[in-house]
Amino acid sequence: MLAASACETSRLLLNSKSASFPNGLANGSGTVGKYLTDTTGTDVGGFVPKMMDPVPHNHDGVGGMHVYMPWWLDNKKLDFPRGYHIEVWGGTGLPEAGFGGGIQDQQGGGYGKQLKNDYRRYYGAHVGFSGRGEMIPNDGSYCEIDPRVVDKWGIPVLRFHWKFTDHEYLQVKHMQETFRALITEMGGTPWGNMPSKEDGYGIAAGGVIIHELGGARMGADPKTSVVNSNCQTHEVKNLFVADGSPFTSQADKNPTWTIMALSMRTSEYIANQLKTRAL
Ligand SMILES: Cc1cc2nc3c(=O)[nH]c(=O)nc-3n(C[C@H](O)[C@H](O)[C@H](O)COP(=O)(O)OP(=O)(O)OC[C@H]3O[C@@H](n4cnc5c(N)ncnc54)[C@H](O)[C@@H]3O)c2cc1C
Repeated sequence: MLAASACETSRLLLNSKSASFPNGLANGSGTVGKYLTDTTGTDVGGFVPKMMDPVPHNHDGVGGMHVYMPWWLDNKKLDFPRGYHIEVWGGTGLPEAGFGGGIQDQQGGGYGKQLKNDYRRYYGAHVGFSGRGEMIPNDGSYCEIDPRVVDKWGIPVLRFHWKFTDHEYLQVKHMQETFRALITEMGGTPWGNMPSKEDGYGIAAGGVIIHELGGARMGADPKTSVVNSNCQTHEVKNLFVADGSPFTSQADKNPTWTIMALSMRTSEYIANQLKTRAL
């Protein structure tokens, strides 16, 4: 049972070469390490004057805003596939240097009583939105064994290649435009300008949202995939992969529930196979 996480599972398989598996264990298809994805993401925050001078009360203990907006649009009317959810943030966390997106930029800085009064007025007068969406797997996003670098035990490490396509860039552009419109509609001002096309509309780099998946993709055809629908490798019947590797693409939800659901299906399959002595 291999469940070392998406990339580490690829590393273990690729490093496990033998006469029977010259390209790495269970890698006859050559797809181990391929079709890596991460959740797409970008964030926009802003200052909303209508929220100034709030009634003071204790917000201690609340982490984040606990609001989640699922995908709500029809892709047929959009220029990108799939969708994203929105996480809302803001509130009155402990003030620190630069809180509120750099409060000094809004009220001009200062010291003493005036600064304290300004802080009270501006405290909590900001909101933000984080978009988290689905990436479409592509040939240009993969990991492979680095031919030169090893870890402290002398085991070769991975090196990564990453490519976003217009699917992801246009989705993130839509996030930016939506979040900026929401803040403006609230009478507020977004922090900073919208990132340009050259800056990928502010898309987080692959790996930054830490939802990496893929590398041992599931499929019916052993020539193009690593595991079958029970997460059993096509080439080694007693080797199973039960982590984020078998599914290369996730909906706009986070990955853990799917990892757990697939693991449960795999466990039940193994138990049944053992009962019938098929394994
Ligand atoms: C900070 C953070 C926040 C996140 N928040 C969310 C969230 O809110 N919701 C969500 O759905 N997902 C979230 N994720 C993503 C989620 O945690 C991962 O997608 C998920 O844990 C991946 O599961 P996995 O089984 O593939 O790998 P992992 O959970 O990484 O498990 C792999 C395990 O294998 C072990 N291992 C590795 N190599 C070896 C080896 N050679 N020998 C023995 N053991 C080994 C590792 O120590 C580890 O315990 C978050 C991730 C991070 C980092």
